[in-house]
Amino acid sequence: MLVTDASLSADKEALEAARDGLHWLLRRYESAETGPAAQHRGRILGLVDAAYWAIRRLPSVHQLGPASGHSYRFLETVGEFPGMSNKELAAELRINETEVSRVGRRLRAAGLVWARRDWRRNAWDITPRGYGCLTESGWIPSSARDTVEPVVNPPSADTTAYGVRARSHRIVGVRTDGRCTVQQEATQNLTNPSDPACLSSAIVDVIRRLQRGTPGTENDLVAGVEIDGPVDVRAGTVAWSPQGSRGPRVSLALAANLEERTGLRVVVENDANALAIYEHKFGSNRGMRCAATVVLDDGVGCGIVVGKQLIRGWHGAAGEIGHMIVQPEGIPCRCGRKGCLESLAAPQSILELMREFDQGTSISSLAELAEHAEKRDKAALRALERAGTALGQGLCTLSITVDPEQVVVYGPSELMHENGCMSAAIFMSAVRAARDANLPPADRFAIVPKIYDALDGARAAAAVALRV
Ligand SMILES: [Zn+2]
Repeated sequence: MLVTDASLSADKEALEAARDGLHWLLRRYESAETGPAAQHRGRILGLVDAAYWAIRRLPSVHQLGPASGHSYRFLETVGEFPGMSNKELAAELRINETEVSRVGRRLRAAGLVWARRDWRRNAWDITPRGYGCLTESGWIPSSARDTVEPVVNPPSADTTAYGVRARSHRIVGVRTDGRCTVQQEATQNLTNPSDPACLSSAIVDVIRRLQRGTPGTENDLVAGVEIDGPVDVRAGTVAWSPQGSRGPRVSLALAANLEERTGLRVVVENDANALAIYEHKFGSNRGMRCAATVVLDDGVGCGIVVGKQLIRGWHGAAGEIGHMIVQPEGIPCRCGRKGCLESLAAPQSILELMREFDQGTSISSLAELAEHAEKRDKAALRALERAGTALGQGLCTLSITVDPEQVVVYGPSELMHENGCMSAAIFMSAVRAARDANLPPADRFAIVPKIYDALDGARAAAAVALRV
């Protein structure tokens, strides 16, 4: 039975264990020539043969075909979300149900997936060997992830997407393929950010420049725009801040305006949510059932993906960890409350902390703070430790609420580049120390710091577009 089951599910480890166990048994009956012992020996020999045969016919990752092919995507999707039905897979893979059945039969014959009945519908699950194939191909990283990882650049698909990062001073755009690999970049300065017409003209201009020489028709293209303010998905409006994210905001129907002017389908997303979608689909959080992405920019933002869903909450404000209170009666925050995470851990707040700890200093940038940290300046070290601890505590509260497997933290290099920068090493070790002080080892999430630049924001916007 063990050999049959392991062979059907293409479980390499179980087959190898069965083969070794059978060899051990065989030695006990080695000298049997006649009687029941000889019959046993014959049966065991037959099973050894079956185990060898099953190991030889174990499917290999090469049989799956190209990564953009249906077999691969089927396996990848079932691996990520076991129990999907034909109908759900068809919608997910954008193919029809007949094709889902055909691909499923092929993968089942290769021992990579199971098919079972779940009430009145069918459900697909991945087998251990199927997981093995995904790991071999590099889709599921097998090692611990608590390091800065390069972004995975999966093989290209023939879709094209545009991603735009819109800030009050500059628009940065990218053209990517279906796997979110950047193919071209374009930037444009905003001459008059408070004029909504100027903003959309600049975005349209960037997209037009990226469109030149693009193969394919405009109809199958989508564009994503990433802004650093709240996005009201229900109303289709964004809160745009012409004077930078700490200034007053105006409500704009940006997506509708851009759709009209470009003829493309346009989706607008908040910066942290866009990065969370990017990380979930193409980055380090890929394949995880629950993961979060935090961004340290003007404030502290966070996007949470559970299953395949970005969590928006009732008012679209889910994941706003920046205004989580980590120090009751602490420093006043721009939101009107006191002791918010943002008032301690946002890059701007770290400078304010340093100025508070050293009244005589006149530092005005993180680069200067990093120089002070390099010289082991006490106020700089204290500010970095205080901010890192606050962020670590905030992440623990987030962890208690949603239990993420991993949190990717995007931020400036002075806080993220821990192998090359003293300030980042101090900041990140304080974040991890706060996590370790608050959570037992079994409950700890991994933390992956990443340096955040404008191109990341634009690429995240393209990931938002690709999700549509
Ligand atoms: Zn606040």
